[in-house]
Amino acid sequence: MEQAGSGTKVVWAGEKPFRAFGATQVPVVLSVAYDYDDVDEWYETALGNRPGYTYNRMDNPTVQAFEAKIRTLECAEAAVAFSSGMAAISSALYTFLRPGDRVVSVKDTYGGTNKIFTEFLPNIDVDVELCTTGDHDQMEREIAKGCKIVYLETPTNPTLKITDINRLAKAAKAVGALVLVDNTFATPINQNPLRLGADLVIHSATKFLGGHADALGGVVCGAKALTDKIYHYREINGATMDPWSAYLILRGMKTLKLRVNQQSGSAMEIAKFLQSQKMVEAVYYPGLPTHPNHDIAKRQMHGFGAIVSMVLKGEMEAIKVMLPKLKYANRAGNLGAVETIYGPARTTSHVECTLEERQILGISEGLLRMSVGIEDTEDLIADLKQAFEYLESKLEQHV
Ligand SMILES: *Cc1c(COP(=O)(O)O)cnc(C)c1O
Repeated sequence: MEQAGSGTKVVWAGEKPFRAFGATQVPVVLSVAYDYDDVDEWYETALGNRPGYTYNRMDNPTVQAFEAKIRTLECAEAAVAFSSGMAAISSALYTFLRPGDRVVSVKDTYGGTNKIFTEFLPNIDVDVELCTTGDHDQMEREIAKGCKIVYLETPTNPTLKITDINRLAKAAKAVGALVLVDNTFATPINQNPLRLGADLVIHSATKFLGGHADALGGVVCGAKALTDKIYHYREINGATMDPWSAYLILRGMKTLKLRVNQQSGSAMEIAKFLQSQKMVEAVYYPGLPTHPNHDIAKRQMHGFGAIVSMVLKGEMEAIKVMLPKLKYANRAGNLGAVETIYGPARTTSHVECTLEERQILGISEGLLRMSVGIEDTEDLIADLKQAFEYLESKLEQHV
């Protein structure tokens, strides 16, 4: 299985040991606890000296099947699943950080992650240095000063900036720091950070892994020596994945490669289409040769992903006119689903920020993020086209 391609792994990896009754699908094991006639056996299982289950906060067969599938896809030794992406991120950070430690990261991490860096870690006396995203020289300088964790996210939300994982992993190794990468936007189909030198890879399984916007989840993958520590944090602190969610995400993952390939292909076409539009001031997509770090993206990604952002002329007013006109669209705060989803940065990724904070981050009020779904590419482009035409006609009425 380790040698198989990702399209084979999404279907087969991890499942067989967890099937029961000859069923071809993994069962949803909802039982909270497990029954033992033999007290010695129970005790040995509880101590972890023999395989088996005692209590669902520790281990659950459906959750383990999900962990086995994602760890195979990320070419990792082990995985630990959580109740949400943020639970995975915060648990990974709190497992390793102690008062006095230092973290080096970028300004453009996911909004919740940014709040951990700016609000919660300072509370426990952890110093966080947030560098300009894409400024590799600055990051190397900050890493060289010494740190416990280098935390990366690439491509970033919502401006699709790219960071060179391999380059910064080398800098981190030189000072003995751990490299954590949030791989949610790329998915394991398009990017495998562990192969680029990262120590731990994190996903919000809520997004592309599940793919159907009906279950929250998160996961951390890496070497067992590291994930064992994260597992211990989870079994005590309790943000474990629910078995129902594990089943839904496991089922969604079987089509991960089909979905992501279709979505990435459409996203490339849509990005090119957007570049030709009068009402669009800027297009952010790492697959475009005009993207400032297109070369790095080409080197470290197998595909450029399903998220495209555009800046509309006319800012929020233009978004307000155009958004309701889109037919094949959920106007929502999530991403990575089979349906196409549109969201302005102001109401989604950067809703916690003030106008000034968004301006410092270079996030325009006209920024609209598009999570490209699995619909036919031509339909999505035609839909955008009619919405732009409507927007232009509305603006003409105003002048
Ligand atoms: C959504 C998201 C998260 C948080 O995941 P939840 O499952 O919503 O907790 C973290 N990182 C990225 C890049 C995301 O898109």
